[in-house]
Amino acid sequence: MKKTSKSQIFQFDNTYINLPKNFYQKIKPVPVKKPHLLKLNNELSNYFNLDIDSLKSNLGISILSGNKVPANTTPLAMVYAGHQFGNFVDQLGDGRAVLLGEIIARNGKRYDLQLKGSGQTIFSRQGDGRSPLGPVIREYIMSEAMHYLGIPSTRSLSIISTGEVVKRERIEPGGILVRISSSHIRIGTFEFFRARKDFISVKKLADYTIKRHFPEILSSKNKYKLFLDKTIQSQAKLVAQWMNVGFIHGVMNTDNTSISGQTIDYGPCAFMNNFDPNTVYSFIDVYGRYSYGNQPKIMLWNLSKFAECISFLINENNEKANKIIINSLSKFSQLFDKFWNKSISEKLGLFENMKENRNLIEKFLEIMFEQKTDFTLTFRKLSESLENQEKKLKFFSLFKNEKHLTNWYNNWTERLEKEKYSKEKIAEKMKKKNPLFIPRNHLIEKCINDAVENSDFSMVNDLLEVLKKPFEYNKKLSFSDPPKPNEDIKNTFCGT
Ligand code: AMP
Ligand code: MG
Repeated sequence: MKKTSKSQIFQFDNTYINLPKNFYQKIKPVPVKKPHLLKLNNELSNYFNLDIDSLKSNLGISILSGNKVPANTTPLAMVYAGHQFGNFVDQLGDGRAVLLGEIIARNGKRYDLQLKGSGQTIFSRQGDGRSPLGPVIREYIMSEAMHYLGIPSTRSLSIISTGEVVKRERIEPGGILVRISSSHIRIGTFEFFRARKDFISVKKLADYTIKRHFPEILSSKNKYKLFLDKTIQSQAKLVAQWMNVGFIHGVMNTDNTSISGQTIDYGPCAFMNNFDPNTVYSFIDVYGRYSYGNQPKIMLWNLSKFAECISFLINENNEKANKIIINSLSKFSQLFDKFWNKSISEKLGLFENMKENRNLIEKFLEIMFEQKTDFTLTFRKLSESLENQEKKLKFFSLFKNEKHLTNWYNNWTERLEKEKYSKEKIAEKMKKKNPLFIPRNHLIEKCINDAVENSDFSMVNDLLEVLKKPFEYNKKLSFSDPPKPNEDIKNTFCGT
């Protein structure tokens, strides 16, 4: 692929715009007063073959801030609907975001380039279309961390400060995030048209999505059923991956569930510290609908909403369609269990599938829960405990009560004897499954505070560097520490 010329920083290749006019509003980002580039993602720029100097130039900054729209694109705001905390809202859409256009990566994959915080659109409802800088920094760090943990996610290209303020609980500086996504098609995009009984649009959207995300099934006779199955499969895997690193999305509304199988819309999300399946961080999630342990159940519910949308495409006969859908949805739990069991087994070094595994996994989680140990560190230190006696003692010191643990540990090491690898090799393999560094809440809060209050981005940069290699030892070891009691942050906010 040839490098984009300096006068044309992005080579857009837009397709969503070719869908009918009721799919979007053509709209330009609303210019901001004094854009300043606070962060540019060099790796991601390279992935797209973008010229870094051009991105940092005045022209680049004016494009990333929405002050200039390149001539080779037509920006738009996408329409969608969605179930929010279980209640259907029939009119949502990009209310503070604009799809600047689609770009193709070095490997030929198509992505959306979206400006978030880019001003009002017809979907803004009462919102101002803007975003404070804090949540922009939060999404940048979170999404990049997820990517480097190997979990499908939207990614972040840049952070712009706008030179304007936004009014929330208090007055805050404004920010714009440029984010990259496989697409921004959500379950809620399908729900929008279904709610209006606009079945022609549902079909057009389904055909577009299949062509974009699942081209391999395009010519299959039962492609819509396969579309559903593929979506179920990728979401079951995604939620298992989230849970394996202790991630809690926080607002799993259907409008925040991407059809591409990527994690999207980082609002009040957080990584769990102490293991407890009931953990909730989001301040607005009063009933714990989106708690850590509820995530598979909620994803299945979301998928049932998606299935309702494309039911008539799966089979014109309602009854037959229902039968097929129920059968497909019923596989979700099995799929989730398969993905979860495989990765939790690997976290425990149980690479061979043996009957003892289940009991060892359950018992370990039970002990972690009882003793309220830190999810991430417990797995990490367990891996390291195989390396030497000192590290074994360090692992044991995480627990208040060692009695049950000693029994478990002995059973575990006995079981490891049946693996085909040496202890050293098992430790090495386990460390590749158990991150040392995750973007803990208290760290993110400190990053945001330094950046917003003192214009100091050094901690953001340091944390991002460490999170690029989350499975490797780094001398900035304090980033791996759980919060001290006075640092612990129990609630997160959308803040948008
Ligand atoms: P989210 O919280 O990202 O799931 O957003 C839910 C809906 O609210 C979406 O339609 C957003 O576009 C819209 N929204 C959120 N914040 C704003 C804002 N500041 N201005 C306009 N619309 C917003
Ligand atoms: Mg959203």
